[in-house]
Amino acid sequence: MNSADSESLARRLLAAGYSEEPLERADVAILNTCVVRQASEDRVYSKLHELKQWKTRDRTIAVTGCIVAKEGDALRRKFPHLDAVVPIGDYDTFLAGLEARYDYSLGEPMPRSGRTGVSHYVRVIQGCDHNCTFCIVPRVRGRERHVRMQAVVTECRAAVAEGAKEVVLLGQNVDDYIDPDGGGGLAALVRQVEQIPGLKRLRFLTSHPQDLETELLDVMAQSDVVCRELQLPVQSGDDTILRRMARGYQTRHYRAIIERARELMPDIGLATDVIVGFPGESESAYLRTRALVEEIEFDVVHIAMYSPRPGTHAAIRMADDVPHEEKLRRLNDLLALQREIAARKTSLWIGREVEVLVEGRDELNRPYGRIRQGKRAVVMRGRDVYPGDVVDVRVLQATAGQLIGIPAA
Ligand code: SF4
Repeated sequence: MNSADSESLARRLLAAGYSEEPLERADVAILNTCVVRQASEDRVYSKLHELKQWKTRDRTIAVTGCIVAKEGDALRRKFPHLDAVVPIGDYDTFLAGLEARYDYSLGEPMPRSGRTGVSHYVRVIQGCDHNCTFCIVPRVRGRERHVRMQAVVTECRAAVAEGAKEVVLLGQNVDDYIDPDGGGGLAALVRQVEQIPGLKRLRFLTSHPQDLETELLDVMAQSDVVCRELQLPVQSGDDTILRRMARGYQTRHYRAIIERARELMPDIGLATDVIVGFPGESESAYLRTRALVEEIEFDVVHIAMYSPRPGTHAAIRMADDVPHEEKLRRLNDLLALQREIAARKTSLWIGREVEVLVEGRDELNRPYGRIRQGKRAVVMRGRDVYPGDVVDVRVLQATAGQLIGIPAA
């Protein structure tokens, strides 16, 4: 979501005549912020402190993103060298202010396919109507606002006409999508978008186990365009903790979704999020999460240590009772387990032929991209392979993080 917001602001700035420059040569620095965890919020403050050295009378520092809703004008008081506090998506006043300060002629907008020239991100829902007790997102991003299906389809069509090969439908909980004009939910939207001529890939994230339509799995399984990848946060493998998190499902529901998805798409890529050390998480509750991770064998697990976010139900009503060292132990234990699972799972791709949508070149100048199941893949001997190409690749090696192969004969 933040990347999509950054691209949207960058598009406006580039169209106004600005160019992207290294910080030391820039006139304007904009921090797009995330406050979902305390660590990410702390990084914003430390960056703002750092920028104090950079700031001069002619330079502008602006902050946008979730911290704006959380901190508001208090930011200006804490950081007097900060020039602008810009609410998400509300860029007009900010841009007008810049225009008054700096004199630029009109430039070229960024292509719809963004910096990679390959993927176009479309926000189909802004905000979230859930109230997970640990989560600050509903407070900083507000209630859900859904974009009309027709508008999404038109935007995707325009992006493909301008060169995008992939569109990514985004929502904090994308499964909640419902067309305000009555055209249906996410499965209906995906069916419409996947038919756009020239579109090679369609992804959507993030899903929610309580809201995922089973029809969506059928659409994924039947399509040559929709990626076989689910980002489905489980958060905990313990039903009592899930209830305390107000997630709205139990582990048996989660397992049923995975079972159905694998029945339809045996090699589906699965990514999840897990929080360790949530208030009340006993050792046995943690071990149930560990067992679930071991049983499901996700491809990717994003693991976070619980940190209370101000204003959330958990922060107000629940004691943060798992000691920091214990949270850290659980985090490291789960990371080690997942590293081993990921390495084992990626090795299963060796010898197989995969379809890679090329996004760019890595530091060794090798084309890289992603397979339909979401894994990163690097193409060796790919001199004539360019971003936007879809190439069949024979996998020769695999690490926990990526596949390496050569173009298939
Ligand atoms: Fe936060 Fe996701 Fe829960 Fe919404 S569904 S409150 S974004 S964790």
